[in-house]
Amino acid sequence: MDKVSDTVTLYGISASAGLACGNAFIHYEQLIRVPAEKIQSGEVKSQLSRLSRAVLKSRKELETLRKEAQGSVGADLSKIFDAQLMILEDDDFMDRVRQAVIAKLQNVEFVYQEEVDKTIRALSRSKDEYMREMISDINAVSARLLHNLSGVEGIRQRKAKSPIIAFARSFSADDIMNMRKSSVVGFVTETGGMTSHMALFAKALGIPAIVGVKECLSRVKPNQQVCIDGSAGCVVISPTPSEWKLFRRKVDSLKRAEKKLFLAISGLKSETLDGRKVDVEANLEVPTENDRRIADAGISVGLYRTEFLYLSHSDFPDEQEQVEAYSKITKAFGHNHVTLRTFDLGGDKFTGHFRDNGESNPALGWRAIRFSLDVPKTLRIQLRAMLRASAHGKIKIMFPMISTVEEVVRAKKILAGVKKDLMSEKIPFDEDIPIGVMVEVPSAVVMAHRLALEVDFFSIGTNDLTQYTLAADRGNAKVAKLYRPFHPAVITLIHQTIQAGHDANISVAVCGEMAGDPKATRLLVGLGVDSLSANPGSISIIKSLIPQIDYEKAAVFAKSALSMQSAEEVENLLADDFNT
Ligand code: PEP
Ligand code: MG
Repeated sequence: MDKVSDTVTLYGISASAGLACGNAFIHYEQLIRVPAEKIQSGEVKSQLSRLSRAVLKSRKELETLRKEAQGSVGADLSKIFDAQLMILEDDDFMDRVRQAVIAKLQNVEFVYQEEVDKTIRALSRSKDEYMREMISDINAVSARLLHNLSGVEGIRQRKAKSPIIAFARSFSADDIMNMRKSSVVGFVTETGGMTSHMALFAKALGIPAIVGVKECLSRVKPNQQVCIDGSAGCVVISPTPSEWKLFRRKVDSLKRAEKKLFLAISGLKSETLDGRKVDVEANLEVPTENDRRIADAGISVGLYRTEFLYLSHSDFPDEQEQVEAYSKITKAFGHNHVTLRTFDLGGDKFTGHFRDNGESNPALGWRAIRFSLDVPKTLRIQLRAMLRASAHGKIKIMFPMISTVEEVVRAKKILAGVKKDLMSEKIPFDEDIPIGVMVEVPSAVVMAHRLALEVDFFSIGTNDLTQYTLAADRGNAKVAKLYRPFHPAVITLIHQTIQAGHDANISVAVCGEMAGDPKATRLLVGLGVDSLSANPGSISIIKSLIPQIDYEKAAVFAKSALSMQSAEEVENLLADDFNT
């Protein structure tokens, strides 16, 4: 029997899906604090040339990292290192450091750190998330420069005999890139949101991660055993021996399945035991080295989050840039289709550049389709680019966060206008391009019968559907415990959407994180879903599960989940089912 358990379960924000377990390692920011020292005026020159040499060395390191990142996480995300290079060589800042060394006659390390502290203090007062996000880049750059200035060995890779779950207040992009070469199998941070750089890097590199876990550093001790479930945003510290054993077994079998299956999934039928077709597709946001592998395995893209294009821009990408981006992904996927979702900006996503700062409730505010319809010029440009790219492959267009039928009618009208323009300009495009909507707001579920008459497909966004159904902000760690995708209220809405779609003869997909959670596969198949669009790391396992499911039995299983009254009951049902 297990001893009385000291287990602590913490919830945070799901940043990157997947299961991992290992020993806790606490990563404290490795800033070197060098005390102030007086220098002679004759020493100023040598201090300043040390600074120049350290900048040069740091620049070389960052350029190497950028190159490495281009290969592993793709060109878009690698631009984070461009931002760090700009911070490193910021003329005004460097002038201030040099002037202060001359004026105060103090050692350059101390003066540099003082100037960094001032900048960070000013930025941390900003209400703008984008400005606050810059703090982690500044910390990363200054830590690197101070290491190089003081000659202390750089940020070391953590190699250990057993797997590590790394904990920190936050990680820089290069910390996360280094994880792949170390024994770190997953990470947990106190800060960060779903679209923070940490989350994007973790997703692109397939490292399970949970961010925004308040006070996790005070709850975990070095070397304690830890299990994390990236999809559920759940961290279990010091699990009981039997929980630990079970979790390890799951991680190992998922890993084995993933390795074996990615090669073999192209040959696997996307059909249940009793012959019901259920496709498995991919959710993508930033192009990565994995795309080719996914495309070669015959996988289509069920959700392409185009707003991530915005990541490397200070404004909207222009039409030509968008045509190139959409054509590239479309060509990469060849005969498989690519579902391009129009910009889902606002709410929690990339609010920094354009947010109306007056919004006190952004998740219920000016986001996604609402923004696109209010600024139709951006929507027109985006739809033109999508249509132009459709000449190169199979594209579907999807509108996010639909809450009324009128929104779809208006969006389709704008699309019809854009098609007419392209025709008169004799620019080729796919005239029968399928149009769909995300069903992720409860009002869309209620109106699903009517919405289904307007579109060719539905895709259920369980991430937002959970937040809006349970009134629990998906990005607020304080209510993470209430954010339960398996709550019967959410499951019931998924079921209603599927029924309404099928009544109108249109297909219904699920593209929220739930689609990539193997515990949910039998439930979703039993609810009648036509396709599951999952994060790339989960595709092989989900695809391998489909042929093992008996649809008739899964439908009975789903019925029992629908009859339950709490999230916990459904979670236990799914866990028991998955573990047997
Ligand atoms: C969702 O809400 O489930 C979804 C897939 O969209 P996103 O996570 O991009 O909001
Ligand atoms: Mg959504």
